[in-house]
Amino acid sequence: MQTLESLTRDARALANGDILLSAPEAEVARQLQICNACRYCEGFCAVFPAMTRRLEFGKADIHFIANLCHNCGACLHACQYAPPHEFAVNVPQAMAQVRGQTYADYAWPPALGALYQRNGLTLALALVAGLTLFMVLAVALKGQGLGALWQAPAGGFYGIFPHNLLVGLFAPVFLFAVLALSLGVRRFWRDVTPATSGAPLSTPATMEATDAVLRLKYLDGGHGDGCHNEDDAYTLSRRRMHHLTFYGFMLCFAATSVATLYHYLLDLPAPYDLPSLPKLLGGVGGVSLAIGTAGLWRLNLRRHPAHGDAAQKPMDRAFIALLFLTATTGLALWAARGSAALPLLLCLHLGAVMALFATLPYGKFAHGVFRTASLLRHAVEKRQPNPIGLGAD
Ligand code: SF4
Ligand code: SF4
Repeated sequence: MQTLESLTRDARALANGDILLSAPEAEVARQLQICNACRYCEGFCAVFPAMTRRLEFGKADIHFIANLCHNCGACLHACQYAPPHEFAVNVPQAMAQVRGQTYADYAWPPALGALYQRNGLTLALALVAGLTLFMVLAVALKGQGLGALWQAPAGGFYGIFPHNLLVGLFAPVFLFAVLALSLGVRRFWRDVTPATSGAPLSTPATMEATDAVLRLKYLDGGHGDGCHNEDDAYTLSRRRMHHLTFYGFMLCFAATSVATLYHYLLDLPAPYDLPSLPKLLGGVGGVSLAIGTAGLWRLNLRRHPAHGDAAQKPMDRAFIALLFLTATTGLALWAARGSAALPLLLCLHLGAVMALFATLPYGKFAHGVFRTASLLRHAVEKRQPNPIGLGAD
């Protein structure tokens, strides 16, 4: 029979969320207790300074800290308590498992969090649906059977899919993705804010977190030589390939945005020729995205098996492959302008972009959003007095 004291303790723990920890969360809490006694990795990344501000780890602390981790592998390769030691400390793996759980738990609407369970299949089905949609539309609009997919169209790609039809298809899907990601990360933010001092965002904190995101600071291993991939050697490849992918994606997005402004404000409809701004941005962005994703794919195949969560490999690879397909079909469209291959390539490209937009809130893209939120909270929290009495860091 429980005593009054143990009931009170359980009630307090319940209020903190401690006894509701899932198995991956409890494993992170266990490992962080060991790390907190050891502290060898204090200078590696943001995880360890955040950890040393805590003596216990509730659910919100664990979600916050797990999303600070960049899975760089530095603490695993440095750890004297890593497997086969009986303490079995593998921080990147434990953190990755919790991160996967947070993406699903904070998905909006909540029922769609289930799409993370077989995420490779989800993205593959979304791609098939996207390709089918545009091929069927192309055939139906032209009324010439499958021959409509292989002929030089009059009027460029708007001769195949009218501009307003494309806007009507893509705008709702993209806006829904933005809404879903925003509502998901808002709930995450509300949960982790009380656990990270509760202080509001400040300009210096925002600047610091933005710098960490844009430079991918925590993939530098804490010393600037890079992180690990397949072995003990440091490499900057992961950081560089992430940068090529991220900035390539942003340049492609900028190309689409500029083209939209040209269309509506300047009455200059696509297609554009060199050296127009949409063409330059799209070309440079497409090449950067293709190289970055090819590099990430190669690094992912060679990744040390103890890094991260093996169960999330299909999610990682499906997202990389979808980005690669989006980039390469976009570049191929550029080269195929005016040729008979244009309709088929256009269907491939639009199908890939549609699948990408539709799955943004339910795939690997979420890691950038939740990690940014955690880095912002970390930059705020580190500016507050240390709650365990060792002064501000
Ligand atoms: S990962 Fe290992 S070496 Fe690093 S702080 Fe934790 S226990 Fe210490
Ligand atoms: S894997 Fe890298 S980013 Fe994650 S906790 Fe270890 S050192 Fe920090």
